[in-house]
Amino acid sequence: MSVDNKPSPVDLRAAVSNVVKTVDPMLKTTTHRTVKSETSADETPIESIVQGQNLSRTYYYHFDSNVPASAQAVFENAVNVYNQTGLVKLIAGEGTSKQNSVTFFVYSKKTSGSNNSSVMIESGHGGPQITQQTGWGAYTANHARAGLNVYYPRLAIKQSVAIHELGHALGLDHSTSRQSVMYPVDQGVTKLSQGDIEALKAIYGSGEKSNS
Ligand SMILES: [Zn+2]
Repeated sequence: MSVDNKPSPVDLRAAVSNVVKTVDPMLKTTTHRTVKSETSADETPIESIVQGQNLSRTYYYHFDSNVPASAQAVFENAVNVYNQTGLVKLIAGEGTSKQNSVTFFVYSKKTSGSNNSSVMIESGHGGPQITQQTGWGAYTANHARAGLNVYYPRLAIKQSVAIHELGHALGLDHSTSRQSVMYPVDQGVTKLSQGDIEALKAIYGSGEKSNS
């Protein structure tokens, strides 16, 4: 199966350089991570740049123009999974520069020859990007991105991968728990673990109360 709407190399590079500081490739190792205090195996860590930020729980999301319908569908499912927690509220639309946003995108990246025996295929990447203005009109916004690697459509255009990448966008980091959607290797998990929900509460639960 081939995907028609392959982004041009220029587009791909632009997208990648845009987020390179904050994204975690799906299959990166977690060994270099600072061990957070009192992180148990079931807890889902929070991306460091999101920690301590006072983020609104409302996000506006949109798709890049080259995102095929199949990928849009799994992203929409991922949006529903997070909205059902009542902890965040993702709304279709662009939002302003002062509001939180998620851009869903696709990219095409072939895994290059590996020098070790196990070749790890990257099925997606995503992450938060914090914009902050202090002083008059101060605000903090997360302009996040979540992407699927359509070079491997059968591995990447999956609900579990979209949920994982959107999790990064919202500030979740890799978990060592296989029940977590943030486990770094795709387990097909489409239900948020208690640890995932607790991490979302830690990021978004202190502000406005949920209406749901
Ligand atoms: Zn990841």
